[in-house]
Amino acid sequence: MKIAYLDNSATTPVLPEVLEAMKPYYAEKYGNPSSTHFLGMEAQKALDDCKEIIAGTIGAEREEVVFTSGGTEANNIAILGAAGGLKSKGTHIITTAIEHKSVLEPFRMLEKRGFKVTYLPVNREGFISMGNLEKAITKETVFASIQPANHEIGTIQEMEKIAKACSSKGVVLHVDACQGYTKMPIDVSKAGIDLLTLNGHKIHGPKGIGALYVRAGAKLENVYTGGEQGNSLRPGTENVPGAVGFAKAAELAFKDSGRGIIQMKNLRDRLMKGLLKIRDSRFNGPVGNRRLCSNVNITFRGVEAEAVLMMLSSKGICASSGSACTARSVEPSNVLTSIGLSKNDAFSTLRFSLSRLNTKEEIDYATEQTARIVEELRKLNAR
Ligand SMILES: *Cc1c(COP(=O)(O)O)cnc(C)c1O
Repeated sequence: MKIAYLDNSATTPVLPEVLEAMKPYYAEKYGNPSSTHFLGMEAQKALDDCKEIIAGTIGAEREEVVFTSGGTEANNIAILGAAGGLKSKGTHIITTAIEHKSVLEPFRMLEKRGFKVTYLPVNREGFISMGNLEKAITKETVFASIQPANHEIGTIQEMEKIAKACSSKGVVLHVDACQGYTKMPIDVSKAGIDLLTLNGHKIHGPKGIGALYVRAGAKLENVYTGGEQGNSLRPGTENVPGAVGFAKAAELAFKDSGRGIIQMKNLRDRLMKGLLKIRDSRFNGPVGNRRLCSNVNITFRGVEAEAVLMMLSSKGICASSGSACTARSVEPSNVLTSIGLSKNDAFSTLRFSLSRLNTKEEIDYATEQTARIVEELRKLNAR
């Protein structure tokens, strides 16, 4: 079967070089990094090298990187840890209405623990307003979490301005960069970013590994206990093969990231153009450079996205509605309703997400099949 994998925002295939780099750390180099013998030292060295590599890609220092089990855990440690650590200074915290669930849920948890939360609204294209952010910050505000790039509609926020607004008021800023990492410039040394979440499986690395950048000196309350690994923020034996795969994937992505980004942009625009030829379709999110190079999000009025996805799947095409995490829920996506889509339109919306492995052939195949399926479903609905 012909395959077009266009669900790279849910996860990406592991590159062969990544898998090869990981293998020895399962087989021969299996030491526990905390062990003091030669196998342990070898594993610890590998872990340190991986931290160095990841740190280098975001302008951080090696000591500022903590490996986690993924983006979700890194977000939890960052948000619950920072808010907890800052509670004595103030109890107002800020995020946006279009964050990933792994950011929104910890905020809801903090709300139950007595924090006041501002969920910044976004406009039709998914941008927060700087004015709203500045107005939201008061003397009580201690922490904010704002994503650089959105997982569903690809909106790239004005991170520099956001970081400046936060740091000038002493607000600790966390950013969930799982979607933006390797696809847009991210530099914690330039921007006033205090905490930053990354993960492996969105960049052709393995699942179950992520990283949290913690600016030197940032005080986080420990969410977990039971060990000193991960600067005590993420205790437990480290996933050494995962870290090795993650670092390898990052290295490969940055080796030629300029070309990868241009290639994705071209395919993104080709797909968007092709799909917009379908009658009664409209795209969601911004256009041009303020949109993630990998993201296409389109509403096909009058058809159920789930039905389209099933029919696409039977043709070997993988896409999604909402995000993977909300795909099985009956609620419309919080992102789509936040940008003003009706419930009906939200349920008629598809996300196609690209990686640098996609080809023109896949894009054309997906375009052609989507057009056929949408028309077929509309005919059925009209009967
Ligand atoms: C995928 C994703 C996560 C969750 O990461 P996991 O490694 O799957 O836990 C968090 N935030 C964003 C923006 C994501 O795209």
